[in-house]
Order: sequence, then C-alpha cells, then structure tokens
Amino acid sequence: MLLQEPIAALKGFGPKTAEKFTKLGLYIVKDLLLYYPFRYEDFKSKSIFELVDGEKAVITGTLVTPANVQYYGFKRNRLSFKMKQGEAVIAVSFFNQPYLADKLELGKEVGVFGKWDAAKSAVTGMKILAQVEDDMQPVYHVAQGVSQTSLIKAIKSAFDSGALEELEENVPSILLEKYRLMGRQEAVRAMHFPKDLAEYKQALRRIKFEELFYFQLNLQVLKTENKAESNGLAIAYDGEKIRKKISSLPFTLTEAQESSLTEILEDLQSGRHMNRLLQGDVGSGKTIIASLAMYAAYTAGLQSALMVPTEILAQQHFESLLNLFPDLNVVLLTSGMKPVVKRAALSGIADGTVDMIVGTHSLIQDAVQYHKLGLVITDEQHRFGVNQRRIFREKGSNPDVLMMTATPIPRTLAITAFGEMDVSVIDQMPAGRKPIITRWVKHEQLETVLTWLQTELDKGAQAYVISPLIEESEALDLKNAVALHEELVAFFGDDCAIKLMHGRMKNDEKEQIMQDFKNKRSQILVSTTVIEVGVNVPDATVMIIMDADRFGLSQLHQLRGRVGRGSKQSYCILVANPKNEVGKRRMTAMCETTDGFVLAEEDLKMRGSGEIFGTRQSGIPEFQVADIVEDYNILEEARRVASQIVSDENWQTDPKWEVLTQNLDRHKELD
Ligand code: ADP
Ligand code: MG
Repeated sequence: MLLQEPIAALKGFGPKTAEKFTKLGLYIVKDLLLYYPFRYEDFKSKSIFELVDGEKAVITGTLVTPANVQYYGFKRNRLSFKMKQGEAVIAVSFFNQPYLADKLELGKEVGVFGKWDAAKSAVTGMKILAQVEDDMQPVYHVAQGVSQTSLIKAIKSAFDSGALEELEENVPSILLEKYRLMGRQEAVRAMHFPKDLAEYKQALRRIKFEELFYFQLNLQVLKTENKAESNGLAIAYDGEKIRKKISSLPFTLTEAQESSLTEILEDLQSGRHMNRLLQGDVGSGKTIIASLAMYAAYTAGLQSALMVPTEILAQQHFESLLNLFPDLNVVLLTSGMKPVVKRAALSGIADGTVDMIVGTHSLIQDAVQYHKLGLVITDEQHRFGVNQRRIFREKGSNPDVLMMTATPIPRTLAITAFGEMDVSVIDQMPAGRKPIITRWVKHEQLETVLTWLQTELDKGAQAYVISPLIEESEALDLKNAVALHEELVAFFGDDCAIKLMHGRMKNDEKEQIMQDFKNKRSQILVSTTVIEVGVNVPDATVMIIMDADRFGLSQLHQLRGRVGRGSKQSYCILVANPKNEVGKRRMTAMCETTDGFVLAEEDLKMRGSGEIFGTRQSGIPEFQVADIVEDYNILEEARRVASQIVSDENWQTDPKWEVLTQNLDRHKELD
C-alpha cells in the first residue's frame, strides 16, 4: 500500500525531513494527500483600478520597454522594465533574478506577481507567471522546519508516487449521483492543484460534503445508540449535601446557574442517559455548576472526570476542585506527569479511593481503569463522539456526559451541530460584575497605552499582552511574541516583572509562568493565544491585544473574557490598524458590546470571507475545509440524509451503505 508508506519512503525525503513533518500531523503518504491548502495565492490578474496599495497581486500588461538588468554591489542586481495596462504605464522591478529577462519579450503580454506601490505606479515583482489566467497556488499551514516549498515538494512527490490511485471512494455512489459530487480521487487532486477556479469549487463542495456528512452520520448513530440505552445510570445523589455545599459558597448562584444545575441533576437522577451541553458566556460561572454536578456523583458513591484541552487548564481546574472540596480525593492526570505520580493516580482511580479526576486526553487512554465512573464532563473543544463513548464502555462504565462550552452558539446552529444533545444555557452574569471597558487604538498610540498601563500597574493591576497571530506560521508567532516581550521590557525597565509564554514551551514551563502570574510574581504576561481558553486570574484587569484585527470576533471575545473576572474595573485595549472593512467592523463591534451572543450574531453576519475562527472553542469540531456557518446548507442536507439512512434499523448490513460502515469508525473522530 503506497498510501500507508511513511513519508520518508518518498523520493528525495529522508527520516530527518519526515520527522519535521510530524509536527503537522503528517506521517504517511496518505496524510500528505489529505493535507489541503487553507488558501490559494490568487493569481488571477487584476486591473490597476482594483489594486490596493501595498498588497500582493497579479498584474498583467504588455511589455513596452526591453528588460534592463543593472548590477550593483556584490552579486546584487535589478531587472526593470515597463509594461502597459490600457493607458497606464507600470514600472516593474525584480531584485536578484536576472535570468527572468529570458522570459520577457517586447510587445508580448506579461503577468507579474508582486507588490503594488500605488504612489509610484510600480510593482516589485516576485514571480513572472507562465500562464496568467486563473492560476492558483496552494498555500499550506506550515511549522518550524517545514517550509511552503518543502511541503509542496512533498505533496507533489506523494501525487507522483501513484498513491492517489489507491485512495478509495468513501461516499456511497447513490449520494455521489444524487448530489452530483466529484469522485474522491479527482477531488483530492483538485484540492491541491486545481486546473481552474471552477474545478476547485467542485472539489471543495465534494470534500465539504464528505466532512459534514460523516460528522452528521456520527451524530445520528450516537443519537440512536443513546435512545437504545435506556439503561443509563440512575445516580442517586444526596440533595441535602449539595444544598449545604451551595450555601457554603462565598456567593449565591444566579438564577440561570440554578436552573442549569436543576436540569443536570434531573438528568443524573433519571435512568436516561445524560448527554447535555452546558452553554454560557465566559465568566458566567459554568465551572462551579460542573463542579457541583461532579459533587453530586460523589455523593452517590461514583467517580467523575473532567476533561480539558490543555495541561494548564487541567492544573487550574484541579486546584479549584481541591479548594472547593478539600475533603475529597481529587487527582490530576496528564501526559506530562512524572511516571511515579501517574502510577499512584492510576491505582487510586482503579481501586476507587479517588473521587474526582481532572485531566487532558489522557483520561481516555488505555492505562486508565475507572472504578465506578458516573459522570464525564468536558470543557471546551472536546466533544464526545461514538468512539469516546465506546472507549468508556469498554472500560466498563457508561457515564453520563456533560459538555461545557463558552462559545455562544446561535440557536439555529446549535440544533444542527448539537442535534443529539440537550442544552442548558447560563445566560446571566453573576451580580456585581463591572462591564469591561474596551477601547480600540492605533499602533501609533501604543506608547500612550503603555504609559497608562504603568499607572494601572502602580495600582496593583496585572496585564496580559497578546501578541499577533500569524496564521501560517507558528515560528513567526513566536518571533513576534519574543520581539513584543523585548519591547515591553525596554519600556518598563525594572519597574515590573514581564514574563513571556508561548505555544512551543514545555507544559511545566507554561504552568510555572501561569503560577507566577497568579501569585503576582509577575505583572505582565506576554503571550501568544495559548492563554486563550478558560484561564482564570481574577486580579488581571488589563488585556491588551496586538494586531487585534487579525483575530476573529469569537476569539477576541474569549481573550477579553480573561479579564473582568473579579470585582475590579477591567479594560481591554485593542491595538489595530485594520486593513479592511471587516477588521474595522470587528473592532467597533468589540467596543460596542460585551455580550457574547450579540458578537456571535455579528460574527455570523460578517462571515462569507472565509474566516473560520468562530467555531474554534465551541465544541463544534473544527473541520478541515468545511465551515459550519458558511456551509450551513450542506450541513443541513447532510443531516437530513444521514438521519434518513440511520432510520433504517438494518442500515449497517445494507450493501449500498457498506462503504459507510467501513469508514464510520476510521473517519476523523468528533474531537
Ligand atoms: P466560566 O467557566 O463560565 O468562564 P467560571 O466558572 O470560571 O466561569 O466563573 C468565573 C468566576 O466567577 C469564578 O471566579 C467564579 O468563582 C465566580 N462565580 C461563579 N458563579 C458566581 C456567582 N453566582 N456569583 C459570583 N461569582 C461567581
Ligand atoms: Mg470555564
């Protein structure tokens, strides 16, 4: 099987390069074929009237002067010529690519990809295009050590190996015909190297359908399995003890918290299986409700587990559970733990001395044997699919499931994306919170902001400063964060401790930095978006987001939710010089409201430009190509047809759906 060959087996690639590719989750040849570009360099030519100053584009014209190469300095040179587009004359220069002169012919049409300088009516060229029309170049997400060029080379080589021939169709032919979908092999090729825009659109439609259809099929299977399992756990919790716990809290629960808790407790008690979504804006107090549900399981003599996406969050939840339930045996379970500690935790979990478990994905790994697991709660991002359920069942338990999400999901979407779940909403903030004051400033005003920040720090405040996000490259993100950190250190000098945290640090390093920040050993935390989800430091009252227009509204809302968690006045400063209307609208929307639902609706309205931020922490899986908002119609149709298929009791043995049963488990899971 060529598809299953390791990348190192490809011509021109050794183990060293292959090792680097693993950072992108690419191990075998098949992975390369299915690693789609996230955008294309648009090589469709533009007229100079459409061009935006400073932007890269393809510009075509007729060559009106011969190419002239000037040499200067050591090995440096400039190739220049003029071309005419309509009546406009455009000056083109290329640096250090003298050989391009061979491609240029006086009087002929030429296509240049380069950066447009409106004032000079000039282009700094990067490429001369062989064919001008609809030429699209794939752009992939890369990682440190893996460049666009090497990735493209590997993908091309994967195609050249003939592996594509082995890629089997995974959508039943009935559906291919019904929806007039492109075949899988053709679509996969066209995703990378489309002949033209039309072909690409067809390929994209097919791949999106495939993704959304399997997603819906999984949900529908889960739903029917849930229905069949009327023998869920009936958790006989001790209501008295729970009340007592609630009255010992330093605050009273909001009405919305109370009613969500009631709904959850009813589910726990009933013999029906709980499969519930707990939705509430950042800071609305979901965590305490989840903790009380875990406590309920404990009072019934059952274990409960809380699964979170990162080790930092695990640590944080672990501490808060310890605080809340000092008499209980709560353990942490993460992959980064020391083996001795881990072994102790595992044996406690297995023999039932452990009451509550907090962890990352490790919670569903083989080594974990639960004693009597009654409840599993997932926080952000994790979603329970058919497979996760099965894993727990195979471990001998069939726990109730509660999923928390902080992303406000508009109702219509929730029905489709969480069709198999019941939903509780905490739509109310705890009393006494001061709304966060949000301001949008331009880069030129940064110094004023920092001077203001100094006075806030003097008053004992702590601040997050988020460095810009470069979609394509983690390495650049890091570089930016480091530079920003240095800049701030230079500005504040020894007046305050400024720490840097980024995604490439080891987990214990990150944890230490978070701890130091929590304990006020540092005043400013410069970070990439790794702090984005769930982090809770009540004394941090300032959030500064650099190049805020690069983030989607939901992500900005999440980031802003890191402050305003205590009783003090909090601030969010968006530093941005947005290049387009969407960016500007995002900034003003952020300044106008702190209501997550309003922002989510606004986000929906602004979609259509291919942004895929909104769904990130919602628990809605992040699809590789599909966008749950943009592709809502496909999603709906996929749901309809999936539920139709599953409604036939014997569908799994029906030959016409054979390919589905084959792919259901193996297809990318729902988390
Ligand atoms: P979420 O998980 O929804 O983002 P948290 O559960 O972390 O929010 O709550 C944020 C903060 O508010 C925590 O410090 C928590 O102790 C506090 N809190 C929760 N519920 C209430 C309430 N009803 N009244 C006051 N403070 C609350
Ligand atoms: Mg939370």
